[in-house]
Amino acid sequence: MIKRMMMALCIFVCTFTLVACSGQQTNEPLTLGVNAIKTEIDKENKIITTKDSEEKGVLGNDCLIDCSKIPMIYSKYEVMKRCISGMNFPDYRYEQLIKMIFAQHIPDFHSMYMLPERLRSNLAETFGTSVCGLVPVTHRASGQADKVLFQLKDGNCVETVNLHYKKGWESFCVSSQCGCGFGCKFCATGAIGHKRNMTADEITDQILYFYLAGHQINSVSFMGMGEPFANPNLFDALKILTNPSLFGLSQRRITISTIGMIPGIKRLTRDFPQVNLAFSLHSPFEKQRSELMPINQTYPLHKVMDALDAHVANTKRRLFLAYIMLGGINDSAEHAKALAHLILSRGALSYLYHVDLIPYNATDKTARKFTASNHEAIKNFSDILHSNRISVAIRMQFGSDIGAGCGQLYADERD
Ligand code: SAH
Ligand code: SF4
Repeated sequence: MIKRMMMALCIFVCTFTLVACSGQQTNEPLTLGVNAIKTEIDKENKIITTKDSEEKGVLGNDCLIDCSKIPMIYSKYEVMKRCISGMNFPDYRYEQLIKMIFAQHIPDFHSMYMLPERLRSNLAETFGTSVCGLVPVTHRASGQADKVLFQLKDGNCVETVNLHYKKGWESFCVSSQCGCGFGCKFCATGAIGHKRNMTADEITDQILYFYLAGHQINSVSFMGMGEPFANPNLFDALKILTNPSLFGLSQRRITISTIGMIPGIKRLTRDFPQVNLAFSLHSPFEKQRSELMPINQTYPLHKVMDALDAHVANTKRRLFLAYIMLGGINDSAEHAKALAHLILSRGALSYLYHVDLIPYNATDKTARKFTASNHEAIKNFSDILHSNRISVAIRMQFGSDIGAGCGQLYADERD
């Protein structure tokens, strides 16, 4: 009799705990894990007790955890860790999982045979079968550039470019936003407008996709769609990319390109001082820069240069000034001299500024008045900077024939 009463009490406590934890009542058979004993209550309310040799996925009072309800912390890897400990699996299971992703390149949870079956299913249910959450829609290749159009879970699309060099070096140009709201007049992405910020997982999944496909990740630049510093998730993405147990990229292998959002520049100086910084300058004249890039009205060039000075003074790192060469618009000798003056007026730090002259990539989303400068104009411009002892390079462009060049990304299947 006492035995029966104890059994009834035990069932009551277990059932109560399970319902309270799951937050909903269910007519499905209940599975309660008690150490190595599995206790099930079937539909006719019979108790079935079996010994389970597998590790239990149980939480505290024997309650199965619903991983999909774990709040998004800063990355899915953190959610995976909590899910595993919430299911009472030992910590080494997380380490195994991470090794299977980052050392063995296993692309889907169901194939991770070293993990208990129940953990694999739970991960697949929570995150989807594939470890990478992005769906590749189209893939275009040309010479040294490959462009992939990805669909995100809400249907928005972004593009990522893989550049591969003859010596085996692989570089990735990633997006940080769906579209972009800054409306720079020469840029196709700006013509889309701002749709939304990408999450840290979506940003890093662009790299994960290639990594799982066997590519080596030598460098990553935030020069795809969007303004990285307009998206606070960028900093979580940087944490994931530089985490030694995840992607393990050195900060020096990462470059952020910005139109000059001062708060973002300051945060990068503080939190990721070794990450390379590129500033999209495009005109040394405030008025013209405001016309080309409306952001200049909020963060004017002279104030951005002060923030960049503080950055180079703190980090002693080279700073890249990107300058698109627009025929008849910003490629005159006056522009080159004004740019030289702007840099030389930095004083002792001017040697850390390096200018990249970028050929304009034509797009059908931007005004016809924008054309690429001719070879002679680019050469003259470069010579003027050079004669002022300013470090300058004419940047090679890859992938402009498949719409994969800087400023051409539009995330449209037809492009
Ligand atoms: N929003 C950031 C990063 C993405 S754009 C930024 O603007 O810096 C990456 C680079 O492409 C920037 O230097 C940008 O000025 C440049 N770019 C934009 N449109 C371009 C075009 N049509 N041709 C060549 N470069 C372009
Ligand atoms: Fe946005 Fe950069 Fe294009 Fe400007 S150049 S519209 S900031 S992506």
